[in-house]
Amino acid sequence: PLSTADKAEPQRICVCVRKRPLNKQEVTRREIDVVSVPGKGTLLVHEPKQKVDLTKYLENQVFHFDYSFDENATNEMVYKFTAKPLVESIFQGCMATCFAYGQTGSGKTHTMGGDFTGRQQNSTKGIYAFAAQDVFAHLNHRRYADLDLCVYASFFEIYNGKVYDLLNKKAQLRVLEDDRQQVQVVGLEEVCVYSAEDVIKIIQTGTACRTSGQTSANPNSSRSHAILQIVLRRNDRASTLHGKFSLVDLAGNERGTDVSSNDRGTLVETAEINRSLLALKECIRSLGKNSDHIPFRMSTLTKVLRDSFIGESSRTCMIAMVSPGMASCEYTMNTLRYADRVK
Ligand code: ADP
Ligand code: MG
Repeated sequence: PLSTADKAEPQRICVCVRKRPLNKQEVTRREIDVVSVPGKGTLLVHEPKQKVDLTKYLENQVFHFDYSFDENATNEMVYKFTAKPLVESIFQGCMATCFAYGQTGSGKTHTMGGDFTGRQQNSTKGIYAFAAQDVFAHLNHRRYADLDLCVYASFFEIYNGKVYDLLNKKAQLRVLEDDRQQVQVVGLEEVCVYSAEDVIKIIQTGTACRTSGQTSANPNSSRSHAILQIVLRRNDRASTLHGKFSLVDLAGNERGTDVSSNDRGTLVETAEINRSLLALKECIRSLGKNSDHIPFRMSTLTKVLRDSFIGESSRTCMIAMVSPGMASCEYTMNTLRYADRVK
């Protein structure tokens, strides 16, 4: 159901942080929880064994975001404060993006794709599915009936700067930029969808494709960006683009600090992930500054999302995921510093 019409205009850039609970292994290892969420927008990284005393923390260990979610937050709650307002915006003609950022194991896929019970992922309980459900709730609402819109979905992956279609057996696709600076992923499968269930099927197909055959030659999904796009088109002869929502499960950012590897392939991979995450930060920052110069050409990721960074109608939300354990502290700080600089 739709929320009330007098809701405040959503802000163009929203940055949130989500802390996951300690997992079983961490509890077994007696890992210490060093992350606290004392208030709606605040998050602390503190020293172990120290009692949580707000007055004791160094200034740089306290972070402020639009929202901070602690280990008790459900995907549904996270959705409500992050992606949900963006669904509304694409009906008003916006190009929206929602990013899950953080180290491998911090909860990006859990948040976007759905929660896990054991090894089974429940794809009806992630931000992808909640967004899809809301898209169809809006579509059937009389407020948008006159627009005569159709919904399409695509799902692809970017690995080492190359685009692979997750709805077409990882076919490699070319990214072309025309003389009007329009960027196109040539041949990307765009499936017409009629219900949230259709989208959920696409999520399942794409996810299975993403994680199939993971070997050293066939990279682990944590090193690629996965992008689910929900596209609204007018039901006219040209299928005019009305709005677009890109939901991105980013590659693990810990590669950014892993320079110990001697493997050339890993080094190239690391460099590419670094480049794309840096480019992403710069593009969102430019958007926030209303700058004319958006450095989208810096990476394939920002290139394919180009139209989501440009103009008045861009909306973006970043959810930074952090692991609570002491052992992840360095990565957690990196993630928080990155998220802190996005806005
Ligand atoms: P990532 O995609 O960032 O590498 P995952 O989403 O795969 O991380 O999460 C790693 C593990 O932690 C998974 O087993 C997942 O079920 C669990 N997990 C992540 N976030 C949560 C959460 N908020 N609540 C419970 N379990 C979580
Ligand atoms: Mg993942």
